Amino acid sequence: MEAGSCRYQFRIALLGDAAVGKTSLLRRYMAGVAEPEPEPTVGVEFYRRELQLRAGPRVKLQLWDTAGHERFRCITRSFYRNVVGVMLVFDVTNRKSFEHIRDWHQEVMANQGPNKAIFLLVGHKSDLWSTRCVSAQEAEELAASLGIAFMEASAKNNCNVDLTFDTLAHAIQQAL
Ligand code: GDP
Ligand code: MG
Repeated sequence: MEAGSCRYQFRIALLGDAAVGKTSLLRRYMAGVAEPEPEPTVGVEFYRRELQLRAGPRVKLQLWDTAGHERFRCITRSFYRNVVGVMLVFDVTNRKSFEHIRDWHQEVMANQGPNKAIFLLVGHKSDLWSTRCVSAQEAEELAASLGIAFMEASAKNNCNVDLTFDTLAHAIQQAL
């Protein structure tokens, strides 16, 4: 999609249970690039940022957060329109959030348009190693069964935050 000086604009959605840290990941990624947003409101929120891909073009990212309504699983079909990338986020200390990843994946598959989205599974809050209850190995296995990549990150420690967005954007570009 043409977008000003950038040739590409990628719409990316962050999905996963409430409190897995989606908003924190986005805000960490946006820190230094934009002013922090005011308190989250109910409804879709999105952030914009440009990214220079490794050995690739400069791209515009439109990053969509679910602003609370994931709690009620009432995300509208229009949310998925033109989404080319999805971060499926779970909390490594919250087993249920991991078990729900298949449901979130299914939700996208059932609602997306003709263009298939590229997914990345993110095991978040990797800083909480002492209360962790989902191993990297089982997350790898889930990702493999869905045919997608897996990474761990922590917004708190700023660990792998840039890398997750970079990896997903790169994969989207590769699939164009
Ligand atoms: P969302 O509902 O998925 O958007 O999650 P939030 O970003 O609102 O975060 C939910 C809670 O998890 C908050 O109390 C955050 O402070 C906490 N949190 C977010 N990211 C991290 C992280 O990387 N590590 C730890 N330990 N806590 C986090
Ligand atoms: Mg949130």
